[in-house]
Amino acid sequence: MTDAGLELQRQLQALTDRFAERLSLELPELARLAGFVHSREPEALGYLGEIRERLHRLAGSAGTFGFSRVGDEARLLEQRVDAWLEAGQSTESSLDQLGRDIAHFAEQSPAAPSARTPETERLDSHGEAGGTRIYLLEGDPDAATGMVQTLGNFGYEVSHFATAQALAEATARQLPDALIVSLSQDDDLQQAAAIQPNLQTPLPLLLINDRDDFDSQLAAVRAGAQGYFTRPLDITRLEQRLEHCLNQQQGEPFRVLIIDDDLELATRYSLALRSARMQVEVLGEPGRLFEALHNFNPEVLLLDVNMPGCSGPELAQTIRLNDEWLRVTIIYLSAETDITRQMAALVKAGDDFITKPISDNALISSVFSHAQRARSLSNALARDSLTGLLKHADIKEHLAVEVQRAQRSGKPTSAVMLDIDHFKKVNDSHGHAAGDNVIRALANLMRQRLRRVDSLGRYGGEEFVAVLPNCSAAQAKRVIDEIRERFAELIFSADDQRFNVTLSAGIAETAEGMRPNDLLEQADRALYSAKHNGRNQVRLAE
Ligand code: GH3
Ligand code: MG
Ligand code: MG
Repeated sequence: MTDAGLELQRQLQALTDRFAERLSLELPELARLAGFVHSREPEALGYLGEIRERLHRLAGSAGTFGFSRVGDEARLLEQRVDAWLEAGQSTESSLDQLGRDIAHFAEQSPAAPSARTPETERLDSHGEAGGTRIYLLEGDPDAATGMVQTLGNFGYEVSHFATAQALAEATARQLPDALIVSLSQDDDLQQAAAIQPNLQTPLPLLLINDRDDFDSQLAAVRAGAQGYFTRPLDITRLEQRLEHCLNQQQGEPFRVLIIDDDLELATRYSLALRSARMQVEVLGEPGRLFEALHNFNPEVLLLDVNMPGCSGPELAQTIRLNDEWLRVTIIYLSAETDITRQMAALVKAGDDFITKPISDNALISSVFSHAQRARSLSNALARDSLTGLLKHADIKEHLAVEVQRAQRSGKPTSAVMLDIDHFKKVNDSHGHAAGDNVIRALANLMRQRLRRVDSLGRYGGEEFVAVLPNCSAAQAKRVIDEIRERFAELIFSADDQRFNVTLSAGIAETAEGMRPNDLLEQADRALYSAKHNGRNQVRLAE
């Protein structure tokens, strides 16, 4: 097990120990309350409300910490108490017996978690994502040289292998982030497929072949391919697919906000989700909800149903009053098993129900699938469909935020205006689709080359804006000049013609008191002078 895995195990054990401690206080209190019920004190019914609350919490949490028998029994008792509370009495003959049963339950000593301990097998399965390493199998040396160079321009580290045997050996030594296999020998496909079964998470595999018939593509899918390309190879399309596959595998962690007044339980959930590479925040106080939504911008909200002061469905409805949070998926976390009541909560607001207790694996997979869906919806709404970059309004918003931050921190932020040279000619000579391809390639190239903290938007047709926080204009120029050079080296093809394209850019850096629009205007003027000076260059604002 990795160090991180061991550390997680230790944290989980500490939580279990703390929960055991909590049980050792909780159960005697429950026994005391139950005593009032079976000794038929006049206010016996009055105690039932509090008893129900306590049983409900136990039913929801004990199983998660490994005390599943305690949790199961608490749930059964809770249902019996419910029947009394709802009907004033129940089919159950005697309240006295109920009180005794609760007392009996509470007097047990739950010395250790039961055999069904929380699942942790997945918890240490994550490696670190480093630079993007690609292994390429290509028998034709010329084709290989071209691909290594072009993919290198996009920022990938490409290792080339001439035989399937060499590829398999290299993979056994160190795993790449993706495989590109150009099929030439009959058994290339078989050998490429043979690499996958030993892996926990299959590598993205892209295949290049001469044939494009159904049987060849089916064979590719069966070998685990996530992309299929025929010769002559359109390498920008291949790069685009590669980026898509890698994004799915190593995109930004999903953001999950947990709101639960039971902080131990919430911590337990957050550890499980974090182990699956999600970013988690816990909020114990519903009143600070809007603040947390603003600051953390979660994609999924896990919401306890029963909390003091304000219920989960009430919170969910409050969120849904605001259009700006429509993209957040709301999942209730509740010990409620009554399907009618679950549905009643969902009718008001919310997207799904998770019933406590829940195993780590079930929690992770449920939250993961919701987060994935929330993100693709949100991307579809906020991102430009051709390039996946931010749209005009969104990049301006990012710019405003970063300019403000720069004013506060005193560190410079740079804005870049970037425009493809003579793009009208590309469209005119090679067609609109080829033009689209060029736009996409530039977007991908910039995404690869810029940092995660940088924002990138498609400002207009073939015009882009990049915002580089904590970066002077001189530093930005080095980065953008490199992108300019790489871009000029990309070889595009359309209708058997090959062509190159260049770009021009203007850069401006924040100065004291400068507003976002001033910054953009300066960058635009610098771009204009780059165009005037002969294009294919980057200019700094005067
Ligand atoms: P300059 O070097 O001065 O920038 O010349 P240019 O031809 O690139 O500039 P101009 O602004 O005259 O032309 C831009 C062209 O980009 C016009 C428009 O048809 C084309 N365009 C805008 N959006 C898209 C798009 O999404 N796809 C394609 N294929 N073309 C687009
Ligand atoms: Mg242009
Ligand atoms: Mg233009």
